[in-house]
Amino acid sequence: MSVSNKVTHVLITFAFVASLWPMAIDAQGRGGGRPSPADSRNLRGVLGGVPMTAADSAIKEVVDLLDFESYKSLIQGLTEFGDREQGTPRNAAAVDWIEQTLQGWGYQTARIHYDYTPRGSDVAEPREEVYATLVGASSPDEMYILGGHMDGRGGGEAANDDASGTALVMEIARALASPGVTSARSIRFALWNNEETGLNGARAYVEQRQGLQGIEEPAGSGNYPEPRWLGMVQHDMMLWDHGNPVTHEQALDADVDIEFQLNSVMADASAQLALALLNANRMFASHYPAVMSNAMSNTDSGPFQDIVAAVSLRENRRLYETGNRANPHWHQPTDLFVTFSDDDFRLGFNAAQTTLGAIARLVDAKVER
Ligand SMILES: [Zn+2]
Repeated sequence: MSVSNKVTHVLITFAFVASLWPMAIDAQGRGGGRPSPADSRNLRGVLGGVPMTAADSAIKEVVDLLDFESYKSLIQGLTEFGDREQGTPRNAAAVDWIEQTLQGWGYQTARIHYDYTPRGSDVAEPREEVYATLVGASSPDEMYILGGHMDGRGGGEAANDDASGTALVMEIARALASPGVTSARSIRFALWNNEETGLNGARAYVEQRQGLQGIEEPAGSGNYPEPRWLGMVQHDMMLWDHGNPVTHEQALDADVDIEFQLNSVMADASAQLALALLNANRMFASHYPAVMSNAMSNTDSGPFQDIVAAVSLRENRRLYETGNRANPHWHQPTDLFVTFSDDDFRLGFNAAQTTLGAIARLVDAKVER
C-alpha cells in the first residue's frame, strides 16, 4: 500500500469509526483490524523475513512460553485491587497477591522494607515491595533485573499504569517457571512500590542492595542474595498507542518504545542493551515493531542509570508523547481493564516478547528436551 493510500485509509477508518461507533466496537470485539498471528506476514517476526539461526530458534522456544490470555488475566487480577495507591490497604493486599502468585509458580520471594514520608506529613511510615529470583544454574552471581511498578493512582484500576508492566514481568516469571527451562545467569523480577510518589521503592532497593552485589552468603555456599547487576529493564504503561491526536483504536503505526538516558553515566551500555531489545523485537515480536530513543525519564530504571545498563519499555515516549497527553486515561478513573481492547493488550504482550527474547539470550535460557 502506498503512503498516500495508507493516509487515505487512515482517514476513512477514522471517519467510519466516528460515524458508526458501536459497530466499530463490535468489529474490534470479533478481532477485526490487526492481522492475526496466522497472517503470513507475521510468521517470522514483526518486520517479516528476519532469518533465524538455530540459536535464535532456541530462544524462540522460550519466548513461545508466553501466553496472551495469561498476560491479560494477570492484569485483570491486579485491577481487582483498584488503583493500588501506595499506603492503602488495597496496595498492601496487592503486594501479598503478587507474592503468593510468584510463590505459586515455585519462586522464593523476598521483600524490601523501607520508610516513606507522605507529602504534607513529617512522619515516616513503613512500606514494602516484593521481588522473586530465578537463580542461574552456572552463574548464580550475575543477574538482569526486570521491573514494573505495582502501585498506581487516579481512583480507577491503574490497569495501564502500571498493572500492564507488573503483569508483563509476572508473565515472564511464569513462563520461565515452566518445566524444562534452564538459565545460566539469574533474573530478578522486581515489582516496585511507590513509583508514583517519586520512584521511592526502586530508590530504596538501590540504596539497600547496591553494596551487596556479588557477595556470597555464607562464604562457600554458592548462594548470592544480590547477584551482580548486568542490566535493568523497566516496563511502565504498555498498552496504549492510539496516536496523538488520540483515535479510538490502536494506531496503525503503534510500536514499543525502548528508551535509554543519553545523559547518564552508563549511556553507552544502556544503548547496547536497548539495541539488544530492538533486535529481539524484530525476531520474536508477533505484531508490533519497536523503536529506540534516548530520553528515558520518570520511571524506576532512573535510579539504576548511573550504575548499570538501564532501559525502559513503554507504549509511548515518556517526555514527548505521554507528556503531551498521548494517553487520556493516564492517572484517570478511566484507567480500567475494560477500557482496553485486545489490540491494546497485544502491544503489552509484544513488549513481553521483546524483553524475554533479549533477556533469554543474555542469560542463556533454554527449554531442555
Ligand atoms: Zn507508571
